[in-house]
Amino acid sequence: MPAALHAPDLRSMSLEELAVLVERMGEKPFRARQLFRWIHHRGAASLEEMTDLPRAFRERLARETRLTTLAVDAVQRSSDGTRKYRLRTGDGKFIEAVYMPEEPGPEAFDPEADDEDEPGRKRVRRTLCVSTQVGCAMGCGFCMTATMGLLRNLTPGEIADQVYRVNADLREEAGTEERALPATGRSRMAEAPIDRQRPLTNLVYMGMGEPLHNYVNVKRSLDLLLHPDGANFSHRHVTVSTSGLVPNIQRLGEETRVKLAVSLNATTDEQRATLMPVDKKWNIAALIDACRKFPMKYGRRITFEYVLLKGVNDTDEDARRLADLLAGLPAKVNLIPYNENPGLGFGDPGAERVQAFRRILEGRGFAAMVRKNRGRDISAACGQLAVAGQKEAPIRLGVRA
Ligand code: SAH
Ligand code: SF4
Repeated sequence: MPAALHAPDLRSMSLEELAVLVERMGEKPFRARQLFRWIHHRGAASLEEMTDLPRAFRERLARETRLTTLAVDAVQRSSDGTRKYRLRTGDGKFIEAVYMPEEPGPEAFDPEADDEDEPGRKRVRRTLCVSTQVGCAMGCGFCMTATMGLLRNLTPGEIADQVYRVNADLREEAGTEERALPATGRSRMAEAPIDRQRPLTNLVYMGMGEPLHNYVNVKRSLDLLLHPDGANFSHRHVTVSTSGLVPNIQRLGEETRVKLAVSLNATTDEQRATLMPVDKKWNIAALIDACRKFPMKYGRRITFEYVLLKGVNDTDEDARRLADLLAGLPAKVNLIPYNENPGLGFGDPGAERVQAFRRILEGRGFAAMVRKNRGRDISAACGQLAVAGQKEAPIRLGVRA
């Protein structure tokens, strides 16, 4: 009999919590680490896979606990190697995770990842953009996810499982590729061959939802994904993006070592409050102040994301104001040409305007890169696709600004 929905979810539990569970069930202490490794290192989708656990223990786990697993509902592939996964939760909600492979080079997709831990070494980056909520309560006017409202928070296990399901898919594909392209066969895909030991190298929390509006579960998911007995991601290769929930920026700074990305998107409160209601609660001054106080050890720096919207926030004056705002901060700027959503009423300023904007920032000494519009042919701006599959009416929770 399957465990009830309210049974504890093994995938959301820390190693310490598993140790308590294992002890309560009268099993040997080493079973906790064994279980944790199955769930987070090997990314097991079910208890049945855990063949070296005693059958009676697995049966008891099946009765008294559950193991969250996302189902891959659809995969869309772009000619540039980007893949968009639509994943279904246990209660039938749809979320998205976007996979972006990148060869080394100046054009590499690099929101915030860097290789300062491996000086001089360029490596292939395989980044996954994960979701943290089903929908989002923040209401940004240009964003497709916002049109859903917030249906619910994702659990730590659901956030982590996006990584495990995509890793499994990539591993499977690597096996097929190796068989299909023997010896001299170079991959014909728009990407380098997949490392089966470590398919994904980088994570960005930039999918559907506002990570800092689901802080506790996001923090727990980071603990799981960075655990040496789990997927073992380096904090240097993990970035959390926020629309600007100031108190939780401070918490993230103190309680984790991961990098921060801030979706600034405008240079005056008048402008920003129209685009992003969160600005009415924590304005630009409060946000920049939180960034200035963000602990910069562990090789951290802050990435400011700036979605360029035609005729709204894309003038030379905006670029100069942006440079003024960020003066003195160890900041990089990611300029993101708007990925158009029909019906929302915003447009892409076009390459020329985007380059002019970038040149002004560079002239002021900022590292400014234009984010390649990945997977344009498959609407891969995070949050653009799952929206269509979602029929349920949203409930609005929490601190909607
Ligand atoms: N909620 C978090 C993370 C998810 S949104 C945040 O807002 O930072 C990730 C990024 O996508 C944000 O910088 C957001 O401004 C940007 N974005 C949203 N819709 C977009 C679109 N249609 N085109 C380009 N960027 C978009
Ligand atoms: Fe939410 Fe980020 Fe979209 Fe704003 S841009 S609605 S915070 S997902």
